[in-house]
Amino acid sequence: MADTKAGTIRLGDVEISRVVEWEGAIAPPAMILPEGPQELWERHREWLDPHFWDAEADLYRAAMNTWVLRSAGRTILVDTGIGNGKYRPYFPLMSYLETDFLDRLAAVGVAPEDVDLVINTHVHADHVGWNTTLSDGAWVPTFPNARYLINQADIAYWNPLNGHSKQAVVGGLTAEFGNQNMYEDSVAPILEAGRAELWEDSYVIDENLRLDLRAGHTPGSSVLTLRSGTDHAVFVGDMLHTPVQLLDPDLHSCFDEDQRAASETRRRVLSWAADNTALVLPTHFPGPGAAEITRDGAGFAVRGWAGFAEV
Ligand SMILES: [Zn+2]
Repeated sequence: MADTKAGTIRLGDVEISRVVEWEGAIAPPAMILPEGPQELWERHREWLDPHFWDAEADLYRAAMNTWVLRSAGRTILVDTGIGNGKYRPYFPLMSYLETDFLDRLAAVGVAPEDVDLVINTHVHADHVGWNTTLSDGAWVPTFPNARYLINQADIAYWNPLNGHSKQAVVGGLTAEFGNQNMYEDSVAPILEAGRAELWEDSYVIDENLRLDLRAGHTPGSSVLTLRSGTDHAVFVGDMLHTPVQLLDPDLHSCFDEDQRAASETRRRVLSWAADNTALVLPTHFPGPGAAEITRDGAGFAVRGWAGFAEV
C-alpha cells in the first residue's frame, strides 16, 4: 500500500496531501486548447515534457488529483475524481474506471469515515466521481460522515429537470455527453441522502479556508483560498488544465462552459495568486502538481514547483 504518488506539505496550520486517482495522456493539445498555438508548446517543450505534454506523441497529459486537507481539526477532500464503475458512454477514458483510490487515500491516513467535508470545486464528471460508491445496486455517499459542499449554480445547471441542453458542443468535444449520468449517479444521491450543503457566493469553512464562486468553467465553479499565517494557497479546480494557460490566460480549454468568463476569472485569480505568493493547486496538473507563479508580460510564469512527489 506504500504509495509513491502521494505527498504532503504544510502551509501555516494546514496540512495538504495529494492523492492521484489517475494520470496519463488525454488528447492532442490542439483539442484541449483549441486556440493555443502549437508553437507555444514547442517553445516551452523543455519543461512541459514529459509531465504536461508527451511531445513525441503530441499528447496533452493530465492527472486526477484529490487534495486532502487537514485544517482546524477536520479532514477535507477537494474534488473526488472520476470514481469507480461510473458509466460514461461518451467518454471512454472515464467509463467504468476501476482504481485503488481508496487505498491511496488510506496511504495518507484517511479512511472514508474520517472525512468531514467534501468540496466539489465544480460539477463535472471528473470532480464528483468518488462522491458515491455502488452498494447493493445503489449509489451511496462514499464518505458517510461528510458534508458535501457544492455550489448551488452548478446544481441548478446540471439538474436534468431544469432542461440542460443535450446539444452543447464545446471545442469538438461534447461536454454534456461527457457528463452523461453524472448528476444521477454522483450528485443526486448526495442530495437525497441529505449530505449536501449548497452554497451561493461564498462560504467560510474555518479560520484558514474559504470558498468563493468564480464562474466560467461552469456556472458554479469555485476557488478554495487558504490563508494561514503568512502562507497562501488557492485551489483553482479546472481554471487551469495545463500550465500553458499560465503563459496566456486567455487560452480557454475545450471544457470551459463559458469561455469569456473563464478567461476573466483565470486572469483575476492568477493575478491574486502572483501578487500574494500563493501556491496554485489545480485539479489536473501531473508531475509536481502545483506551482507558485509570478507575473510575466501579459501572462504569468512558474516561479517554483510545489514539493509534492512527482507522478
Ligand atoms: Zn476536470
